[in-house]
Amino acid sequence: MTPFNLKRFGKGKPMPEITNGVYFIPGQDEMIPDSHVYVIGMPSSQDLSMVDAGLMGKGGYKMQTIQKAGIKLSDIKRIIMTHTHLDHIGCIKEIREQMPHAELWIHEEEADPIEKGDERGVYGMEMFRSMCQTEYGLKSGDFKLKVDRKLKEGERLDMGGLSWEVLHIPGHSAGSVALYERSQKVLIPGDVVYADYAIGRFDLHGAEGSVLKKSLLRLAELEVEILLPGHNRVVKGLKPGYIRDTAKQWAPYLR
Ligand SMILES: [Zn+2]
Ligand SMILES: [Zn+2]
Repeated sequence: MTPFNLKRFGKGKPMPEITNGVYFIPGQDEMIPDSHVYVIGMPSSQDLSMVDAGLMGKGGYKMQTIQKAGIKLSDIKRIIMTHTHLDHIGCIKEIREQMPHAELWIHEEEADPIEKGDERGVYGMEMFRSMCQTEYGLKSGDFKLKVDRKLKEGERLDMGGLSWEVLHIPGHSAGSVALYERSQKVLIPGDVVYADYAIGRFDLHGAEGSVLKKSLLRLAELEVEILLPGHNRVVKGLKPGYIRDTAKQWAPYLR
């Protein structure tokens, strides 16, 4: 793996820059994983986006990391969710307390349930819901949120000096999206595909193995050099055919 540059935007500590206009804040897993956050956009544009938020209680250090790197929170204009599982959206409230101006963008398939307060997709399964509500003091309705923009398949998001394509890649969850930046061959696939031939689970609410397989094959058609998943390692210099090989290995289980 190629090491990242560390970039500093003002005084203070630098933040890892994976490639031009893509910054990485690693998740801090607990018993439950905490998703990584990517900050995308050229800082000079003052039009930055956060991709995903993370688990409950894991918003504070991420906002500090951003500020310590010299980026103003007011320059973060939106939070784009790859999907709305708890380990990605759990800390959305604490983040929006400090960034009330930031819009929330979610794919339409998951935006509608979120707006209606249908949290089955957030918790994934009933047993997990009661466990998390007890463990973290969550109440039903905590993830009933207004969604500022409902993302659609095939949209192009021109933000912060970069152009991202939105791909709807269901299977791990109903409204999973990938963001793809063609000029630098960067793919942010959420939890659909990870490094080391791992894929997202497909046993949760709204998930389906055969659908996940199609989504993997779709991602396999993209030229990807930089893979930035929701968890575990990020990869620079991805082997050509990596996503196709991953889909092939999992094919017997994805029906
Ligand atoms: Zn997930
Ligand atoms: Zn996740």
